[in-house]
Amino acid sequence: MSNRTTELVRQALDKGLKLLFPPQCATCGRLGWSLCPRCVAEFYELGARVCPICGDLREDRTVCPRCEVQRPHYDQLRSAFRFQGTLRDATHALKYEGRSDLGLSLALAMARVLPPIQADLIVPIPLHQDRLVQRGYNQAECLSQALADLWVLPHADTDALIRVRHTETQVNLTFQERQQNVADAFSASEDWVANRSVILVDDVSTTGATLNEAAAALRAAGAIQIFGITLARAV
Ligand SMILES: [Zn+2]
Ligand SMILES: [Zn+2]
Repeated sequence: MSNRTTELVRQALDKGLKLLFPPQCATCGRLGWSLCPRCVAEFYELGARVCPICGDLREDRTVCPRCEVQRPHYDQLRSAFRFQGTLRDATHALKYEGRSDLGLSLALAMARVLPPIQADLIVPIPLHQDRLVQRGYNQAECLSQALADLWVLPHADTDALIRVRHTETQVNLTFQERQQNVADAFSASEDWVANRSVILVDDVSTTGATLNEAAAALRAAGAIQIFGITLARAV
């Protein structure tokens, strides 16, 4: 078959599959959307009342005590939404229910509320190889790839930032335990990041410990500016 014929057959199969198995909203189950507008409208924006560095909620918008004591390795971290309600369900579907198709819908929602950032490169927080094999995809990369398309930014290959050791799940750990848990967990490639400004993308941040440690690796490899962004923040 010619390339053109193959493409037409592929498109026809694609249409047929969509008729047979239309996308279903990951949170309410409505047919026709990966994530329907009603569920997206319920996402709760984190807003601008945050620490200007780590992006934690901060009514007076001044630098928070934690950042005063110890500046993070990144320049700025911002999250789009609170980790609750339909957004929490959607994130769960993206991470644990194989719904990698949610990357674009969620990235569109992020791009709507986060200010556009100028940078040379966009990099996702990597998964450890074992978990990547288990899950089949990196949920942070689903978001970063879609954001790179939306913002017309170069996206890094998987060797730009790697996880050099497996870390325990962060749930139920204190801030200090989280810091220790992710210490030296990442390594970055100078070829990719030296003298570049980098946007680092993750799905959810709680204390920012993972992003901070990944930023340390990027900094060690010569990154000049590091902006962290996450879909959600657990507050
Ligand atoms: Zn819905
Ligand atoms: Zn702070």
